[in-house]
Amino acid sequence: MNNNKLLIVANWKCNPATQKEAEHLFVSVKKEIKKIDEVETVICPPSIYLSLFKQKVIQLGAQNCFWEDKGAYTGEISSSMIKDFGCKYIIVGHSERRGYFNETDDEINKKIKSILKNRLKPIFCVGEKDRDSFDSEGKLINEMSFIVSEQIEKGLIGISQSKIQDIAIAYEPVWAIGTGVPCLPDDAMKAALLIKKTLTGLYSREIAERVKILYGGSVISQNAIDYIKEANMDGLLIGGASLNASEFVKIIKRVII
Ligand code: PEP
Repeated sequence: MNNNKLLIVANWKCNPATQKEAEHLFVSVKKEIKKIDEVETVICPPSIYLSLFKQKVIQLGAQNCFWEDKGAYTGEISSSMIKDFGCKYIIVGHSERRGYFNETDDEINKKIKSILKNRLKPIFCVGEKDRDSFDSEGKLINEMSFIVSEQIEKGLIGISQSKIQDIAIAYEPVWAIGTGVPCLPDDAMKAALLIKKTLTGLYSREIAERVKILYGGSVISQNAIDYIKEANMDGLLIGGASLNASEFVKIIKRVII
């Protein structure tokens, strides 16, 4: 495992519905984790709530960004604005953005470049859609290895090795996101090894070892530790369970035992 602190990232997605609920959730988490030093906790709320949460205990992240710093791009928020605000992380390439908003590998690559140019840290999500895929002859094919390595290779085009250690790669099998069907820790470990192998091919073994690899997909307090201890992950990306303050805090407390 990467030597640094565990990285636990909350992806609130388009939740909660009101500012009041968002404040309550944030304060409830902060109160419980302020003395925990073994974990770097990051909360990525909807951007409209970010300004409510400026403080020093919990790092803030955005869920998306635009690759140009400024200009006539209605509706977009740039990574330079996110940097200027004081965030440290930006989630990029989440499967919901790839799926619902047709985000392409090329756009993801531009976003990663702009995040790194602005000295922020991308949390780069990769993962296969289906758990089991079959070819035309009904033979099981390993979609994970093909999709994950392709997403990494395309997402990292033109990114120099001096920048790569600022990136965390989140393995998020799409079939496990929000479904209550988590990936087996053993399979998550295989994905992490594949990610390292892909990075070794693109850069070097030494560089690959410095990149944090996170797991995301139906993580709850009962299974969180398995991904850290059994799958040797450097952290977790948590959606649904991060909207429940006591469950999210429980996850953080369980992974440091
Ligand atoms: C996610 O959306 O990144 C995620 C991991 O969601 P969930 O934890 O709800 O599966």
